[in-house]
Amino acid sequence: MTEHTTLTVALDDRSYPIHIGPGLVERAGGLLGPALQKPRTFIVTDENVAPHYLKPLQSSLSSAGIQSDALILPPGETTKSFTQFQAVVEAMLSARVERSTTAIALGGGVIGDLTGFSAAATLRGIDFVQIPTTLLAQVDSSVGGKTGINTAQGKNLAGSFHQPKAVLADINTLNTLPERERLAGYAEVCKYGLLGDEVFWDWLEQNGKKVVDGDAEAVTQAIEVSCRAKARVVADDERENGVRALLNLGHTFGHAFEAELGYSGAILHGEAVAIGMTMAFDLSVRLGLCPADDANRVRQHFNTIGLSTTPPGQAGRIATDVFLDHMMQDKKVADGNITFVLARGIGKAFLTQDVPRDDLTAIVDATLSV
Ligand code: ADP
Ligand code: ZN
Repeated sequence: MTEHTTLTVALDDRSYPIHIGPGLVERAGGLLGPALQKPRTFIVTDENVAPHYLKPLQSSLSSAGIQSDALILPPGETTKSFTQFQAVVEAMLSARVERSTTAIALGGGVIGDLTGFSAAATLRGIDFVQIPTTLLAQVDSSVGGKTGINTAQGKNLAGSFHQPKAVLADINTLNTLPERERLAGYAEVCKYGLLGDEVFWDWLEQNGKKVVDGDAEAVTQAIEVSCRAKARVVADDERENGVRALLNLGHTFGHAFEAELGYSGAILHGEAVAIGMTMAFDLSVRLGLCPADDANRVRQHFNTIGLSTTPPGQAGRIATDVFLDHMMQDKKVADGNITFVLARGIGKAFLTQDVPRDDLTAIVDATLSV
């Protein structure tokens, strides 16, 4: 039997396992069986993922006596829409799913977020499990129960908290993932080091290249450490009243790039977050909170690994006040104040609303004018 690791997200009666390792799609029937109320599932996936993994998943389920229907959607961020939400809910209802049926999200963060939200709404809530197939989804979006879709007003603005019953992170699925997507996912891996684990950051400086290149041992290690960090934060603060907000390191900046450049692929979420985390460290240095050396290490590692720390060409035309407006529209703004995730050094992130406008403007100016 192939070896794998299992972590637990501890949420009392809603606790669930995260299985990490190679070849888990082929073993999904056995691994998911215990998480199902009845041996009946409804798989949602996308056109890029289905050709590789849908058949192996369905045959594994079927060997374990688990029935499955499947819906294949177009790939891309635009799939996280009201239109596709309706399509998923109605496809499940047409297939006559019952309260005891489990939805399976087979794909990246887009499929995971959409399927989770659809499961939360269908028949007032059916179970779902996640089989994340991107590095980003394996280390971040598949764990923690945030689900949702984008609206005309912004990203992830309609959704719900709905925890999965299990997560299967099959590292072999990363072999077919485009390099650019792997790098973007790697930015979220780095986030865990930068926000709270300096030892992990040191390890990433040494081993990051292996992670991005798909070395099985290094990838497994990176996913395990990331999921363990995320699981701990989620268990402490499921609904983001406090520490969970640390996971937004680089995200308020990042979301402003995404909002401005559209969700068309001009910038990927992880790419935006990499720039955003660099800005958060630069701002921390400017405020005298963080040694300049630490910000240099962040920038240097990203650049060495192939993650840009400056926005793509089009961003040069973003005006600073437009960028700041996007930041103000983020979900994380309360009473007109942005909660910033800043750092006292690598692995030492903290929350504050106390950032003088001039300093913020200076950092945004400097980044946009590169
Ligand atoms: P993310 O997980 O980064 O939020 P998506 O769900 O949009 O993003 O996935 C990123 C892209 O990679 C999509 O085009 C998706 O179809 C594709 N994709 C996802 N998983 C795989 C995989 N294992 N192999 C090949 N392509 C994949
Ligand atoms: Zn993110």
